[in-house]
Amino acid sequence: EVSTGTLPGWERVDEIVREAHARYAGERGGRVADYIPVLAEVDPELFGLAVIEVGGGVHDAGDALHPFSIQSISKMFVYALAIQEHGHERVRDIVGVNNTGLAFNSVVALELNEGHPRNPMVNAGAIATTALMPGATAVEQWERVREGLSAFAGRPLSLDGEVYASEAASNDRNRALGWLLKSYGRLAGDPDQIVDVYTRQCALSVTAHDLAVMGATLADGGVNPITGERVVTADVCRDTLAVVAASGLYENSGDWLFEIGLPAKSGVAGGIVAVSPGKGAAAGFSPRLDDAGNSVRSQMAIGHLSRSLGLNLFASA
Ligand code: GLN
Repeated sequence: EVSTGTLPGWERVDEIVREAHARYAGERGGRVADYIPVLAEVDPELFGLAVIEVGGGVHDAGDALHPFSIQSISKMFVYALAIQEHGHERVRDIVGVNNTGLAFNSVVALELNEGHPRNPMVNAGAIATTALMPGATAVEQWERVREGLSAFAGRPLSLDGEVYASEAASNDRNRALGWLLKSYGRLAGDPDQIVDVYTRQCALSVTAHDLAVMGATLADGGVNPITGERVVTADVCRDTLAVVAASGLYENSGDWLFEIGLPAKSGVAGGIVAVSPGKGAAAGFSPRLDDAGNSVRSQMAIGHLSRSLGLNLFASA
């Protein structure tokens, strides 16, 4: 059963969200991230699912309200804020829009492209994007990120201090990327401070429910469907979702687009949010990851939702 055009009624969507959660509740594939020490300690059985409709309908299942760190999912929202601030052309000159075909923390991808970050969904491009946040100091830039992502979520988001401390003490590779960008003249400001803001943005604490609201804001032309607040323009949503479609799941983005047909962004804590423009967003949280760093169970559950709710962007029937 596939619906096109609009979502089925609230009750039916709710039933499908519950069904998707139940279907993958026993799935154990993948491994919890351990390169950030504190992430290795999380309960791997946690599993939450949420759908938010552009009309404001809310569907939460399982551990949808369990907090975890947003990690790389922050990249799509900071990128949206950067385009909102500086415009499509300027941001495009600074950070590209093509997939690297390489891991999210690849140094080689940056080196091969003469220090020009290939896209904002991998660490090098994300660090360069964070550097575009307005503010005279790193503290002000961080405040802008926190406020901006909070507006997407419709509630004040806060830092998970433990995750921040753990990653700040172990992120030599991201600092190397920051200094490499600087060496190519592609980063204004102090690399250590910019990487610190980036590390903080990754440690913002969210739930699957929050991610679905954030994604639904992009699905709704930039208006948060729960608070009614305009966060970014519809053009910014379009630009952001195009880049997310190409690179949101890193080197597996093509596989995902081929099978599921939705822009989606993952983070190493186990979150994934997929956005269906004009309809809504689906978010999953489950800590076990595949080799590219994408939550196994979140991918399966969101895939099921995409099929059952008729969300595939490329399907005409
Ligand atoms: N904070 C993590 C890092 O920079 C984010 C990576 C991710 O979620 N894939 O490595």
